Amino acid sequence: MVIAMGFEGSANKLGIGIIKDGEVLSNPRRTFITPPGTGFLPNETAQHHQLHILNLVNEALTIAGISSNEVDVLCYTKGPGMAPPLMSVAVVVRTLAQLWEKPVIGVNHCIGHIEMGRTVTGADNPTVLYVSGGNTQVIAYSQQRYRIFGETIDIAVGNCLDRFARVLKLSNDPSPGFNIEKLARDGKKFLPMPYSVKGMDVAFSGILSFIEERADNLLAKGEYTPEDLCFSLQETVFAMLVEITERAMAHCGSREVLLVGGVGCNLRLQEMMGQMAAERGAMLHATDDRYCIDNGAMIAQAGYCQYLTGCTTALEDTFVTQRFRTDEVFVSWRS
Ligand code: MG
Repeated sequence: MVIAMGFEGSANKLGIGIIKDGEVLSNPRRTFITPPGTGFLPNETAQHHQLHILNLVNEALTIAGISSNEVDVLCYTKGPGMAPPLMSVAVVVRTLAQLWEKPVIGVNHCIGHIEMGRTVTGADNPTVLYVSGGNTQVIAYSQQRYRIFGETIDIAVGNCLDRFARVLKLSNDPSPGFNIEKLARDGKKFLPMPYSVKGMDVAFSGILSFIEERADNLLAKGEYTPEDLCFSLQETVFAMLVEITERAMAHCGSREVLLVGGVGCNLRLQEMMGQMAAERGAMLHATDDRYCIDNGAMIAQAGYCQYLTGCTTALEDTFVTQRFRTDEVFVSWRS
């Protein structure tokens, strides 16, 4: 029996999760929410995490009903992400590792999403679409690596949605993307916008500029409602994502697609992806906001997989890195 404790803080969520052999014992989370029209800045986000992390450690242990003695390994997000919040969490994990005399494992955030998604859904060898505020990648496993088949060449899809939410001054509570999704359900009139697929890659910054430049005018003239614009933006960017995911599935002969990351909670994206999968006789696996959105359990789960292969991170190597590609990690735990 192995108990792993995972610490996530690469962006505006601080999460600590405890898992026992793949079973989630606790997974509390705090989200740093900024006023409408604004995003979260690195230093303020770090301060938020610093303020809450010790309470969250106690909360995670209490909910799990265990003491720190029973924890076998501490896992933390090494990257990618924003440096100040990543560092704040890593410092606490290094300190706890020395106080509690526990080994540490540095985890790639993207691989945390993939391994948690596989555990929760039971997907065995899926093509993965990882979509969030900071990441947009189509990934499939081959020969000890999670290979990137396609990705954004500029901003993440979630960043595109979040920044459009700022234009509309939508609330960031619980997340800007969720509020866009709610409005989009009532959208009726489609605004054609650039469709930016480049081979297996996608680009979103041009689409964001296109709609940022026109939104005020279109709304003022009453030609489109905020609901219409949210609907049009979602339909366009999600169609792009489904297209590149389908191409990766065709290339890999994949019968499963796994949707992870915060944007993966979006029910319209799940519906479009599910339709594509059904048409090719494949199955969609998706998770809800507990696991799609950044959380501690996913870092514990990826660390647990690595821990079983006997590989931990030396204390002097427990640094963080803003840039850390999914395919840099040697996946020792899969055949
Ligand atoms: Mg994420």
